[in-house]
Amino acid sequence: MTTNQPRLLGFYAHPDDEVLGIGGTLAQYSANGVYIEWVVTTRGEAGEISDTSLATPENLGMVREREMRCSAQTLGMTDVTFLGYRDSGMDGTEDNQRPDAYINADDDAVVAKLVAIIRRVRPHVALTFEPFGGYGHPDHIAIHHHTHLALPAAADPDYRPDLGTPWQTQRLFYPILRRESFMEMKARMVAHDLPVDFFDGFEKRRANAWPSNNYQVAININGTTTTKWTAFNCHRTQFGEDSLFRRLPESEMAELFSTEYFALAYPEPEEGLRLDGLFEGLDLD
Ligand SMILES: [Zn+2]
Repeated sequence: MTTNQPRLLGFYAHPDDEVLGIGGTLAQYSANGVYIEWVVTTRGEAGEISDTSLATPENLGMVREREMRCSAQTLGMTDVTFLGYRDSGMDGTEDNQRPDAYINADDDAVVAKLVAIIRRVRPHVALTFEPFGGYGHPDHIAIHHHTHLALPAAADPDYRPDLGTPWQTQRLFYPILRRESFMEMKARMVAHDLPVDFFDGFEKRRANAWPSNNYQVAININGTTTTKWTAFNCHRTQFGEDSLFRRLPESEMAELFSTEYFALAYPEPEEGLRLDGLFEGLDLD
């Protein structure tokens, strides 16, 4: 970390949350000298195992930590902190009930951990999920909630002075995946004669998702799409040969996701605000 270096801190729930809607921007920013750290609340223990030679249910968390570190290094992050809660699984699954599941963690304990990280990293910009977590994953919604508690707590001199000097993060963004990208993906899959059953019920699943046109920053990542897909490929247990994201040729996928979109969550934007980048106009002390 050097003086006046822009600093970015991401608050996420699983290894692989950092790739699809954000990876190109992270690669571009790190290449341009932005300091990036990431927080992941779980090791994704309830995720899929695409190939049984890669992991077992018992060691999946350890394998996914390695996959996350591979991706982080590819994208140019300086460090990743795992909070060590267990993946809560999809809504309605048995994993939700486990006492060590992230969604059952004590809010105050999580917030204190996040505040200590915020006060150490002193980010100018923070990233987390929008309120619906993209598609309603309970862990995504939980980290959204905890980030909103932790950022003001970190700035409050009366909150836990033992955790470091207060720090006000200037902006919080929600990276968003737009409906249009998925519709284009579906159209291309139809054109290639590929099955599109994934899209059954897609509108229903996205009923509470962030509106596609509500964003303040659009970043063209044409220079770093290769790096983004290299990071994506680190997550081998999640994106196996049968993955939805591997059905189209990689060049077409890269094209579909070649712009990344960010909605400004804090401070609340004025109508019609557009920024050229996440740090545009900030005072980088
Ligand atoms: Zn996730």
